[in-house]
Amino acid sequence: YEDFSKANEVREALKLFDDLYTKLLREVKAKKCEGQSKRSIHIEAAMSLKNQKKWVNYGWTFGHVPGVEIGDQFRFRAELVMVGLHRQFISGIDYVNINRKDVAISIVDSGRYANEAISSQTFIYVGQGGNPKISATRVEDQKLEGGNLALKNSMDSGYPVRVIRSRQRVKDEKSDIRYIYDGLYTVTKYWQERGPTGKFVFKFELKRNFGQPKLTRELVSQPANLAKVNHFHPYVNKDTKSVTEQKFVVDYDISQGKEKIPIPAVNAIDDERPPPFTYITKMQYPDWYYISMPQGCSCTSGCSDSEQCSCASKNGGEIPFNSRGAIIRAKPLVYECGPCCKCPPSCKNRVSQCGPRHHLEVFKTESRGWGLRSRDYVSSGSFICEYVGELLDEKEAEKRIDHDEHLFDIGNYDEEIPERNNNKFEVESNCSQRKDEDGFTLDAARYGNVGRFINHSCSPNLYAQNVMYDHGDRRVPHIMFFASKSIAPLEELTYHYNYQIDHVYDANGDLKRKNCRCGSRKCSGRMY
Ligand code: SAM
Repeated sequence: YEDFSKANEVREALKLFDDLYTKLLREVKAKKCEGQSKRSIHIEAAMSLKNQKKWVNYGWTFGHVPGVEIGDQFRFRAELVMVGLHRQFISGIDYVNINRKDVAISIVDSGRYANEAISSQTFIYVGQGGNPKISATRVEDQKLEGGNLALKNSMDSGYPVRVIRSRQRVKDEKSDIRYIYDGLYTVTKYWQERGPTGKFVFKFELKRNFGQPKLTRELVSQPANLAKVNHFHPYVNKDTKSVTEQKFVVDYDISQGKEKIPIPAVNAIDDERPPPFTYITKMQYPDWYYISMPQGCSCTSGCSDSEQCSCASKNGGEIPFNSRGAIIRAKPLVYECGPCCKCPPSCKNRVSQCGPRHHLEVFKTESRGWGLRSRDYVSSGSFICEYVGELLDEKEAEKRIDHDEHLFDIGNYDEEIPERNNNKFEVESNCSQRKDEDGFTLDAARYGNVGRFINHSCSPNLYAQNVMYDHGDRRVPHIMFFASKSIAPLEELTYHYNYQIDHVYDANGDLKRKNCRCGSRKCSGRMY
């Protein structure tokens, strides 16, 4: 896939941006510089990376941008600038001068103007200037100049315009905006009409260019449906005839509709498809296993940090998640509210039981088989997915030891797990060593979920958190993966398998070795 190395460059640039933005934000918070808004910090971060020559596709004008795919999501306008999608930090229309005429190259539908979707292929973009939301006291007619003239010239010349749409990820969370690359459009019409303030505005009709991966209706629907954006994935329409897509997407949804958000599998390496297995979203308990019910809390109107909530109390008197659902720190065991609790499903102590919230994607790696990544930015502490499989006792696990690819030993959580530090989770290897002693094991080989695709890394970005919520047997906690740091879109999601080197044996008692190919600078060279 020819864009692959460029995609790495884009990913790398976004990671650098994220690290710098986080650092600046921390500095600002420490200094309590209230005057400095987040906006100036992300522009500051982008400009600093520009000086370090870290921007990608600098000077790129028309058409798709190398390394960026339709459906890619971004957190900040500054990121669009850095990867060459839209070079303006604030203005919604970007243009270049060709033969002494300004011609539009990209637009951002930021939600500030009353842009409207007519269908999944057509939308109306309101021109710039005179916007009452920007200059409340001076509402005036828009003029056919600057970006508006550039869009008209695009229509005359037929040049394609990149469209980037902004969407609130979660309804009512205005700060949680994502910018989504929607592909190339052509301006087909423009006209002037009176806007809601009585002043004239320009309107431009844009039609989506033929042959691009199709988007679902949810993406182009009006603000009332914004919450549905979580279900958006550019690949969901199986009827598309795009050659690129057929080459790349090998399965539109490995969960076969069982997860709320489809999980495609993509392969840019060879023609292989993911191996067959039965997708399950809940643990598969054997017949002999007795599921004991836990004691629930009785907080009818939601739980909070106090000893009065019995679940908070089991967590040391605190709800282990913040208001955005991020886990506060790694712990040996976390108790979420569950089916025996009186609190509502919206209780903030129910996070990992609700399933994945990111647009996950299974992809073929160069040397580690299939792996998992997120098309969305993942903030530190976010829940990713559970490791679901068949529950095995020790005897059954022994029998499967020669097919250990998807075995996960559980219940070994007595050892100390370091605390969160510096906004990161210091969850290093050996902190919860796998003990090949008695206990239970999960096997996701035949029955499993997306968690079975997560590879090992010596510098992981996820950690496995033991969580209880729907039964009372602490020997058999749920294994829930949370982000131990912030993760750029398309970066591989990994955790440390925590095998002890030279302590893994096959069914004949012979020592087993497996080389690690995580490629990190800290790589020890061996998985076990
Ligand atoms: N890559 C797997 C696949 O294609 O299904 C998904 C992960 S599976 C739970 C674990 C297996 O993936 C391991 O037994 C090993 O074969 C491979 N694997 C995971 N991490 C690896 C790494 N860092 N280096 C080499 N192989 C790895």
